[in-house]
Amino acid sequence: MRTLRVQVRLAVLLAGLCLWMHATHSAATEVIMLSLNDGKSISGDLVKADKDKVVVKVGDGDQAKDIAYTWDLVRKVSNGLTRDKILQQWAKDNPDLVCADCKGEGKIVCPKCNGKGFLPDAPKVPCTKCLQTGFIKCTNYQCTLGKVPCDGPCLKPNEGTWTKGKDGLLYRRFVYQGGFAEWSEQHYGEVVQMKEGKPVNIGKCDKCKGTLKMDCPLCKGAAKIQCPACKGSKSMVPDCTECKDGKIACPTCHGSGEKPAAKTGDAKTDDVKK
Ligand SMILES: [Zn+2]
Ligand SMILES: [Zn+2]
Ligand SMILES: [Zn+2]
Ligand SMILES: [Zn+2]
Ligand SMILES: [Zn+2]
Repeated sequence: MRTLRVQVRLAVLLAGLCLWMHATHSAATEVIMLSLNDGKSISGDLVKADKDKVVVKVGDGDQAKDIAYTWDLVRKVSNGLTRDKILQQWAKDNPDLVCADCKGEGKIVCPKCNGKGFLPDAPKVPCTKCLQTGFIKCTNYQCTLGKVPCDGPCLKPNEGTWTKGKDGLLYRRFVYQGGFAEWSEQHYGEVVQMKEGKPVNIGKCDKCKGTLKMDCPLCKGAAKIQCPACKGSKSMVPDCTECKDGKIACPTCHGSGEKPAAKTGDAKTDDVKK
């Protein structure tokens, strides 16, 4: 009986240890979110990333599988990782293998536009960025139809601690010397201030008038901003047809950043030997 109990205890201990090791192990893997060029996003454990692709483990347990995304599909990685950063690191670690023409970057400045990404001397074309309206949708990510969340001092659902009261409403408590006062969620957008040591509701917030929203500082509430490509003129200098953002793939290494295998060099040494 006693041995059994000891065994059980040991088993529990072992299981605990395994769990702990598993937990520490999973804490080491990094969960990332991939934003793809087609608008989809994928989140999972980062398995590896090299200059060709990013591999993420998607799903749980038996369902988990590694999926590789080549960099041309990837718009953004949540931890800031880019192919350029990987190439830069690789070039640093392998100075002997680096392509001399692009210094390992895999890209060179576009000769057609001198790296500008557009052709300043070409005749103007109808703006493709704003569909010739002169305006684009406001680019402030917080902006919805010209409004952003109020940054004034008013009561907000995402600030302070809100606890459910007996009536089912959420309440925020303000403690002061001698007691406390509470205001419910029905007072969102109102301002509570300390007056003579006591919290007092002084009414609607000046900034949002109690709506929790205020005009977006970028578009001033218009929800659109002047098109940066044509500055509102509706016609723009055309994009360079040869490149993307002023860079083209390095022709020497075909974008890999690696020094091409020196076949011709070998042949020459052979010649010398003869
Ligand atoms: Zn170009
Ligand atoms: Zn406010
Ligand atoms: Zn805006
Ligand atoms: Zn435009
Ligand atoms: Zn190169």
